[in-house]
Amino acid sequence: MNNNTPKVIANWKMNGNKSMISLWLESLQKNLTIQKQSKCLFCPPICYLDFTQQEINKNKMKISLGAQNFDIDLSNSLTGGVSGSMLSDFHCKSIIIGHSERRLNFKEDDRILLEKVNSAKKYGLQIIYCVGETLEEKNKKSFRCTIKKQLSILEDVDLNNLFIAYEPVWAIGSGQFADPKYIEEVHRFIKDELKSIQKSEINYPVLYGGSVNLSNSLELSALKEVSGLLVGGASLDANIFSEIVNQIAG
Ligand code: PEP
Repeated sequence: MNNNTPKVIANWKMNGNKSMISLWLESLQKNLTIQKQSKCLFCPPICYLDFTQQEINKNKMKISLGAQNFDIDLSNSLTGGVSGSMLSDFHCKSIIIGHSERRLNFKEDDRILLEKVNSAKKYGLQIIYCVGETLEEKNKKSFRCTIKKQLSILEDVDLNNLFIAYEPVWAIGSGQFADPKYIEEVHRFIKDELKSIQKSEINYPVLYGGSVNLSNSLELSALKEVSGLLVGGASLDANIFSEIVNQIAG
């Protein structure tokens, strides 16, 4: 189980355009073997997913496609909504749920996030579920409490094809990545907590994200408890992203 864990995820957030995407993919095609491409998950803005899939097909690439957000099915209409079935319609394989920017800016709370998880499951999407504490919570040494609550929504969820990404809020886009010892401690806590709420002995893979760049990716990915990396800002540059992948995807 879980041998399909993405090794490196590129989260472009609200950046890029068609020409950037084409050039980025061309560069990845030159710099990464097909085997290494198959360990990458690319999450461009939702409006470019279809175009990106066409470019991936055109270049005969093996990189997987993911979305940064989607909407749950509602019984009433939803202007501007994008559903899970629309994502799977053009082979979008994965979805990021629970990113701190969405928790904060769109008030996505536990109830909404659980509905999103269930909806993604219904459409067979792989889920990258993000958790992480704020700086204030870190300083108060209360990361356990925050992350326990964020994980609690997964109690009755089948964790097959669902991966946790630990992303300390204070490390996202700040240039401050977490201390390796601290990352190991939190990852161990997440794994223990998942075992406990799922009443299982499985060691679920946990990825790390937050200011990953070329100078720290090797060290971070070598940590025993880290199964892969979620890369935001540094993924926009094809050469940097390819180097990160080449460094860590065996
Ligand atoms: C992210 O937003 O998921 C992220 C990890 O961003 P950055 O790498 O820029 O910190």
